Amino acid sequence: MRDIVEKSDLTERDKKHLWHPLTQHKTSADMLPIIQAKGCTLTDDQGKEYIDAISSWYTAVYGHCNPYITEKVAAQMTQLDQVVFSGFTHQPAIELSEALMKVLPENQQKLFFNDNGSTATEIGIKMALQYHHNLGNDRKVMLAFEEGFHGDTFGAMSVSGLSVYNGAFEDHFIRVERIPVPNGENNDEVLQILKKRIADHSIAGFIYEPLIQGAAAMKFHDIDGLNSILKTCREHDIILVADEVMTGFGKTGKFFASDHIEEKPDIICMSKALTAGLLPMGLTSCSQKIYDAFYSDELAKGLFHGHTYTANPLACAAALAGLELLISEEIQQNIGHISRRNKDFCEKLKENSKVSNVRSMGVIMAFELNVETDRYGSLRNQLFKFFMDKGVFLRPLGNTIYILPPYVISDAELNIVYNTIETCISEF
Ligand SMILES: *Cc1c(COP(=O)(O)O)cnc(C)c1O
Repeated sequence: MRDIVEKSDLTERDKKHLWHPLTQHKTSADMLPIIQAKGCTLTDDQGKEYIDAISSWYTAVYGHCNPYITEKVAAQMTQLDQVVFSGFTHQPAIELSEALMKVLPENQQKLFFNDNGSTATEIGIKMALQYHHNLGNDRKVMLAFEEGFHGDTFGAMSVSGLSVYNGAFEDHFIRVERIPVPNGENNDEVLQILKKRIADHSIAGFIYEPLIQGAAAMKFHDIDGLNSILKTCREHDIILVADEVMTGFGKTGKFFASDHIEEKPDIICMSKALTAGLLPMGLTSCSQKIYDAFYSDELAKGLFHGHTYTANPLACAAALAGLELLISEEIQQNIGHISRRNKDFCEKLKENSKVSNVRSMGVIMAFELNVETDRYGSLRNQLFKFFMDKGVFLRPLGNTIYILPPYVISDAELNIVYNTIETCISEF
């Protein structure tokens, strides 16, 4: 039988009908066809291999096509593929809920399914706004960090920092107040700004990426500074919405970034590594207090939000298998090992005068090259090409280079990533 897909001309055929995300097609390079992903390796249509040093946008943390996960999903596939989650329930969702309760912060009690990170935050925002609406409070404004990123739907865009992503839609945003991130030195100043923003009691909820902002080029926050903000918000009855879409499931060295912080969120948004890179799914968890504000004899007090593929059984099976791996001794040891190696590598880089702001937390490591640049400009493309030529898949943001490798990366593969980064520093 002839291959339906002819491998050689995929790039050309791609151009005919496909519109790619986050891409200006007039100026962007051609799309690279990837024909296989296994463990930490991506393979293109010419047979060239790349180490996936960012876990395919923070998803495939147990390695691509992890056999433990694919077998569980394959088995689920022959049993129950999809069923409406309104009026029905199923074992994969129930088992996943029970497993998640063991790793989520203790105050989290209820799970609301969706199908991606943007809708996970969208639902978090809606929960915060409707919580106050249901209680009869006149609070209609969200609070967010400048430079945050929470997704591409309207609510999520509104609470994200203005950028190339969302500038065209500014007139349609929900109401948002913004504060700077605490960096240790400005903690008091940020608290003063916060107190001004919340003085009129109009803020319903505060949405934040705990400790690390991914899209803002792996910007790290000061833990005490963030904790003070969260404490102040809670004292003023502002619902805390932690967007753990990027930071969740082990990346910071703990199950959730919120585990590093004393003040716990009321709501947690999850996606990305939730389903181990296999299938799209999002989840928004909340505390009993939030749920209770929707629990009523009045129909309209319910959360009337629902996606067709809510709690898809295959995605639930992938998530459950992923969680089983996450809590395993082997994966926990791997996370610890990569964290230590990152720290050692950071110590080495700190001696290099061509880089600055060298930082790491868990498997995430980042630094800035000391060169002038804008975030989406040509340097980023040059760096991307440099690493791809050397067989390492990274997506630098401006002059920020970061890694977030799968937890199953070998020492040999990690050495290649580190060495290539050092070569890059010496050549740029
Ligand atoms: C990726 C991301 C989102 C959006 O998730 P999508 O699945 O791409 O819609 C939201 N918040 C954070 C912190 C993210 O990293």
